[in-house]
Amino acid sequence: MYKKRGLLIVLSGPSGVGKGTVRKELFTQPNTNYEYSISMTTRSPREGEVDGSDYFFKTREEFEKLIAEEKLLEYAEYVGNYYGTPLDYVNETLDAGRDVFLEIEVVGAAQVRKKVPDGLFIFLAPPSLSDLEERLIGRGTEDREIIASRIGKAREELEMMNLYDYVVENDEVLNACEKINAIVTAEHCRRERVEKRYLQMLEGE
Ligand code: 5GP
Repeated sequence: MYKKRGLLIVLSGPSGVGKGTVRKELFTQPNTNYEYSISMTTRSPREGEVDGSDYFFKTREEFEKLIAEEKLLEYAEYVGNYYGTPLDYVNETLDAGRDVFLEIEVVGAAQVRKKVPDGLFIFLAPPSLSDLEERLIGRGTEDREIIASRIGKAREELEMMNLYDYVVENDEVLNACEKINAIVTAEHCRRERVEKRYLQMLEGE
């Protein structure tokens, strides 16, 4: 029997570009019909964050056990903490025919690209590097040296753009969301995907 499998959508991009904001906006919109995969992390909850809703908050020991047991689709260490995507949730949701959305940093996204080559990879880019700098300064939490190192990192990450299928400039959150939704819709209509689906249906007759 033919079973439709969902599409794995990966949104990534440089630090400070606004991935989290875009993701949160997407999931407040009523027409968004893909599932957000809640990540695991070892970082402490920020004020207002809820375990099991924003993240699954884990100790380092718990996280390392998940790595050892191969329970993560991908993971990365970012600013001293682990972040990772639960494998079972992703597989079960895709198997149920629903699309899954990951919002992750670039090292993890590169791992997913290798494991799930038929996923949809979207790179969220800053309108310009100077704009990225403004945003980082705007946070008011980092000094100039840290900002400069973040800019250097962002430059490297921009070079990683070639791992992705689409680039969405985050000029304005609602514009970015609209583009992401349009990309997902178009991706479902891509000839290779449609053809594969019909061939599987015919073979499963
Ligand atoms: P924050 O601590 O600000 O919530 O997230 C820090 C970074 O971790 C962000 O760039 C976010 O996209 C990324 N991130 C969140 N969840 C995951 C995950 O499951 N895997 C990876 N590789 N990165 C993640």
